[in-house]
Amino acid sequence: MNEIFLLKLGEVVLKGTNKRQFENKLRQNIRRRMKAYGEFDVYIMQSTVYVEPMNEQADVDGAWEACRSIFGLVSLCRCRPCNKDMDSIFNAVEEYLGEDLDCAPSFKVESKRSDKAFPMNSIQISQEIGGRLAEAHPECTVDVRHPAYTVYVEIRDLAAYVHGPAEPGAGGLPTGVGGRAMCLLSGGIDSPVAAYMMAKRGVEIESVHFFSYPYTSQLAKDKVMELARLVTRYSGRMTVNIVNFTPIQEAIRDNCPEEFFTLIMRRFMMEISQEIARQDGCRALVTGENLGQVASQTMEAMTVTGAVVDMPIFMPLVGMDKEEIVTIARKIGTLETSILPYEDCCTVFTPKHPKTKPTLGQVIHAEQKLDREALIRQALDTVEKITVKYNDEPFC
Ligand code: ATP
Ligand code: MG
Repeated sequence: MNEIFLLKLGEVVLKGTNKRQFENKLRQNIRRRMKAYGEFDVYIMQSTVYVEPMNEQADVDGAWEACRSIFGLVSLCRCRPCNKDMDSIFNAVEEYLGEDLDCAPSFKVESKRSDKAFPMNSIQISQEIGGRLAEAHPECTVDVRHPAYTVYVEIRDLAAYVHGPAEPGAGGLPTGVGGRAMCLLSGGIDSPVAAYMMAKRGVEIESVHFFSYPYTSQLAKDKVMELARLVTRYSGRMTVNIVNFTPIQEAIRDNCPEEFFTLIMRRFMMEISQEIARQDGCRALVTGENLGQVASQTMEAMTVTGAVVDMPIFMPLVGMDKEEIVTIARKIGTLETSILPYEDCCTVFTPKHPKTKPTLGQVIHAEQKLDREALIRQALDTVEKITVKYNDEPFC
């Protein structure tokens, strides 16, 4: 093959005795992602992942795009492999990077030699290849301090590899090394970003969505499914658990004081999510809550909603400004879908004057007319499970 990807491991390399386990997970994740693009060989040597297309049918551009969103990688290079001798290396640079050099005003060559049996050291390699390139590209001058373009030569065990500047990887830890969590996914801006951030820390993400048909429309559900699909670009496949929330919301509306509507509703969400999480092998919940953003996200309100569960609740956005959250949503490609104007179930029975500093006693008193257990059991009986992955058709 005349092109191969070299992907550099991120924090994974720091993990001492767990390193092997991390590497295996990363390799498995990359293999699974590459499947959609044809046959690729994926192997790890010297803290570098090699992704090699096995035949001409492989969709190399598609695979490259997919590698950008795989967690656990700090940098990505598309390379030309060649024999480990100076003529082959020079020819590979000429063929593979010659056009880039023609466009650049200045360049330098940087070499790395991990095969210590190679007869020249890295400075000698850079000098020789640099000298030959300078002759072949007289318009492009050598500038070792501030070059406009850098040619990289890596002499590794199996071959030599030449490439231009590396691109940043997605960072984080390989999905799956941090356990599995259940994300409460709404149609808003925040929760898809929260799911992305936990996935970035190596957590496998499943999700739950509370749906209040006919108060919210099929379009609102499609929007959430589409957000889930967009998150799977980073997190890998995800099962969305759709819970029919209408009977619970109606029971709250009919039996509880209005100022507690949202809080009581959120306590149901937490408890139901925890139950589904347990069934699906998740050990934590994830929400997009953000301190002070709305009445239900004061410290007192969060205490009251968190009191119904004993799993940890991860809120990766809790201390961020909205602008910071929006910037991430834009970067990961969920913002445009999040701002589509379909209503969320939270907005259906919103109290005019929500309680911002509730106590647990007040809320328990406010829910006393409800048969919580029966309502939760009924909701769990109706859960619809839909598995999504990034290469599925868009939902909207
Ligand atoms: P988002 O932008 O994620 O909707 P938000 O700022 O609108 O968040 P809330 O509506 O108060 O805030 O919801 C807080 C969190 O509760 C959400 O981030 C999400 O994790 C969860 N949540 C809210 N509505 C739903 C829903 N219909 N289904 C599942 N989770 C929900
Ligand atoms: Mg919301």
